[in-house]
Formats: sequence, C-alpha cells, structure tokens
Amino acid sequence: MNRTSMLSQLDENKTWDVLIIGGGATGLGTAVDAASRGLSTILIEAEDFAKGTSSRSTKLIHGGVRYLEQGNLKLVREALKERGWLLKNAPSVAHTLGFIIPSFSFMQKLYYGTGLKLYDFLSAKLSLGKPKFISRKTIEKISPAIDQKNLKGGIVYYDGQFDDARLAINLANTAVQYGAVLINYCEATALLKKKIKPTDKQEKVCGAIAYDYVNNKTFEIKSKTVINATGVFVDDILQMDNKDVADIVTPSQGIHLVVDKKFFPGDHALMIPKTDDKRILFAVPWHNKVVLGTTDTEIEDITDEPVPLKEEIDFVLNHANRYLKTNITLNDVCSMFAGLRPLVKTNGVTNTSMLSRDHIIIVSTSDLITITGGKWTTYRKMAEDAVNNAIFIAKFSYKHPVTKNLAIHSSAFDAINYDDAVEKIYSAGNIKKFVEEEMAVSIEDILARRTRLLFLDVRKALQAAPTVAKTMAAVLQKNEEWIQTEIDSFTDVAKNYLP
Ligand SMILES: Cc1cc2nc3c(=O)[nH]c(=O)nc-3n(C[C@H](O)[C@H](O)[C@H](O)COP(=O)(O)OP(=O)(O)OC[C@H]3O[C@@H](n4cnc5c(N)ncnc54)[C@H](O)[C@@H]3O)c2cc1C
Repeated sequence: MNRTSMLSQLDENKTWDVLIIGGGATGLGTAVDAASRGLSTILIEAEDFAKGTSSRSTKLIHGGVRYLEQGNLKLVREALKERGWLLKNAPSVAHTLGFIIPSFSFMQKLYYGTGLKLYDFLSAKLSLGKPKFISRKTIEKISPAIDQKNLKGGIVYYDGQFDDARLAINLANTAVQYGAVLINYCEATALLKKKIKPTDKQEKVCGAIAYDYVNNKTFEIKSKTVINATGVFVDDILQMDNKDVADIVTPSQGIHLVVDKKFFPGDHALMIPKTDDKRILFAVPWHNKVVLGTTDTEIEDITDEPVPLKEEIDFVLNHANRYLKTNITLNDVCSMFAGLRPLVKTNGVTNTSMLSRDHIIIVSTSDLITITGGKWTTYRKMAEDAVNNAIFIAKFSYKHPVTKNLAIHSSAFDAINYDDAVEKIYSAGNIKKFVEEEMAVSIEDILARRTRLLFLDVRKALQAAPTVAKTMAAVLQKNEEWIQTEIDSFTDVAKNYLP
C-alpha cells in the first residue's frame, strides 16, 4: 500500500463504482466489502486512516453486556456474531480476553452470572467460553490488584480485544489487495452532482471534489455511488449535499487513561458493572499497559483532536480506585486520549448514554448513502449494508458479500513489543516500511497509529519524536526545516495526551 502508486491510479476520466468518503472503521470496512465484491472502489480520508474515533476506542470486540441489560438482544446477538468472525479473520491484532466482574453479595453474583450466561448463549457457535463463578481467593490469585474488602467472589466471562488503529491499517491493506484505491490526507471538499436524465427533477451525486494535502492538488473523482462514512462528521457531508438538512449525529465523548501494568497485573480485564452514571467501566490490559475507561459526555465541538475534561479524568480515576488496592493518581497516568462517538439522534432521548449504538443508513434524495453509528465490532456488517445499498441504487449486478470468512491482512508490526528500545522500533528499515507499505505521511502517523506509542506513553513518544523525524526525513529526502515542523506539530498534538 503505497501512496504514490495509489495517486498514479487516479484518472479524472474514470468513473468508479463506489467512492467512499472517510477512512475510519466504517469506511475502510466498506472499501474491503466493495472491492472484494468486484466493485471498482476508491476511498478518500481527510487525515490519516483511523485518525478519528477509530483509533480511540476501548479496544474491545464485544456484544456489549450493557446493551443486554437495556434489552437490546438483536444488537447484542449481531455484535457477538461479528465478534466471532473478527477474532477468526484478524488473529494478528485481535484475541480473546477474560473479564472479571467482582461481586459483593450473593444476589449480585446471581444477577450478573445469569446475564452473562444469556450473553454467552446468544453467541451460539461463536462462543468464546462459558462464564464461570470464581471465588474471592481465585480473584486474588489471577488479579491481585482487585481490592478484597467485602468481596464475595465474582464472575469471569470472555470477550475480544484488539488494536484498533492496527486493524484499520490492515483493513486498508486488505482493500488494496482486492484492487481498491485508498488515499489518506485527501479531503472531500464538495460533491459532484448532475441530472442523470434531462427529464429528472433531482440531481444525483456522481462523485466529489478532493483536495490532496500532501501535493496541494485538487482533483475530481467521478463515481456511480458515493458513501458518506465520516463518523461524527457525516452531517458536514450531508449538508454539502443539501444545506437545509438537520443534523443526525449527537457527538458523545469518551476518554481513557493509560497506566502502568503494575497497577493491574495479570492477564484478565476488570469490568466495573455499574458506574455512578449507570454505565460500565473497564480496566483492560493492552500492550503491557492498562487502559482505564470510559466516559460518556455530550459535547458541542466536533474536532479531530478532542481533549479529556477534568471531570472525566476524575470520574475514571475515582471509579477505578474504588475497586483497586492501590490509589492511582494523575501522576501515574502515562497517556490519555479522547474519542467522539457518532451517536444517532433519537427523538426524546437527551442522555447520550441512552442513545442507541445501532448503525443507520440514510439514502438522500440525491442517492448519497450515509452510514454512521454502530461500533468497531460491527464495522463488517455496517460495510455489508452500505454496499448492498450502493448495489441497489446503481443497479450493479448483485454479488454476495464474502467478508465473513475473508482473512484480513496482517503485519509484523501487529506484534511490536513497546518495551523494546525506541531505536529498534523506529529503525530506518521499519520507518521505510511504514512509509512505503502503510502510507505513513507524518511522524504522528508512525507514533500514534502505525505504532501506538503516543497512546501508551506520551512522554516516551515525545522523546522518540526527533529520532523518528530524522529517520523519516532520510527516507523521504526531506530537509532540516521539515524535521523541525514535524517535531513541532507532533509536540502540539501530544500535549492533548499529556495528563
Ligand atoms: C470512547 C470510545 C470508546 C469506544 N470503544 C469501543 C469498543 O471498545 N469497541 C467497539 O466496538 N466500538 C467502540 N467504540 C465505537 C467505535 O470506535 C466507533 O463506532 C467507530 O470507530 C466509528 O468509526 P467511523 O469510521 O464511523 O468514524 P471515524 O473513525 O471517526 O472515521 C471517520 C473519518 O472520516 C474522515 N472525514 C471526515 N470528513 C471528511 C471529508 N470531508 N473527506 C474525507 N474524510 C473525511 C475523518 O477524518 C475520520 O477519519 C468506541 C467509541 C468511543 C468514542
């Protein structure tokens, strides 16, 4: 997957079957689905792949125990199927993980135990293992950081865990293997529209105007269908199509704090089943660190670099500390990050934690297809639904989707050991591969998404930045000024991850 070779396939005279706007989980999944069904596919992403919400998740592949409690069995069952397929198709970035729910009374144990039995039952043949009641002693053994005070034992159940941005890059590579063209740092600035027949009253979308930030070039992409997969930004594209349509997304912010593994040793995650705002909070081991989160805060500003709020940080620390023997403080936080959920507005629902996690597809009168909502876990199904709509609209000959059993590209970078020396991880050979095979354009792409150092340890990432910039400059034949600009802009972004 090479950016220069992608650009060389652009041809303003060509009409693509499918143009996808947005290179997060939804857009990349859609590119894989469309290309693997034989449709000529192009995707443009305004920034880097997964720069938005898709690199900022809790890293869980799950049916959503919370949605079970809300009675949304359909959503849970669908997500559990997706969980099973994703774990099989992307083993280099996704695996099964045991979760402990501590219980403080017999009734609590019974309640969660029954719920989790149903959760496992709904996964049918794709079960990851039956939930088990465990004693207080077993908890002490497998997860020694959990506070034993008043503890009456607990339950272990199984879900999936993954590296979100690595999966995104691997999906991009998979789409390219099937012939798709994907371009990052390339923004859709306007939609192309025309009347298909002179007698038509309504203009239909037939492509977009795109701006390539790397080469400072504008070009037209013509296509038979256009899919808007821009996450929390879908309203911008909907309003490019029709300036009078109302917003459909309510953005909700969730934050995570990353701490050293010593605060939560062991191979299991902790699931706190009821927070003060009646949600769930996790402590999840990830790349030899622990991710604590998340929150659900309705937010006004939609930006590509959301920042954790002080009350959110306090909320996560307070809840985690209630269940742990040690007291984690802000000084212990290695990195923090925030993401925005693209939740679909529902009449009468004002609390974002109660908004549905289902995805929706809207087909505008111009035939613009918009897909949003959903979860990382359900990206494959979302993609399938979006492409089915494209097939219907453009009357392409129908081909069955093949992604349930489609192996997703893997890479040696999926197994990076972040305890290795910075010089080893960011060797000239690796940086050449990030640039030439994974389309990294900036040092932030390398430090935040091709590798996850920014998310795991912001200070270590800041220390590594000059080495990465110098090595990348040598690969790209850039000068000292480029090196300094890269370091400065990375430092600016990294400030948001510093506790
Ligand atoms: C805090 C938090 C925790 C979560 N945890 C989980 C979890 O553990 N498991 C799970 O399954 N799900 C989780 N989710 C949900 C999941 O992360 C999202 O549903 C998913 O990442 C959304 O992907 P997306 O592609 O729709 O949006 P995004 O990832 O935001 O992608 C949209 C892309 O469109 C691009 N774009 C915008 N405008 C344009 C334009 N004009 N031209 C070109 N490109 C454009 C943006 O730059 C962006 O990269 C979580 C979400 C949050 C916020």
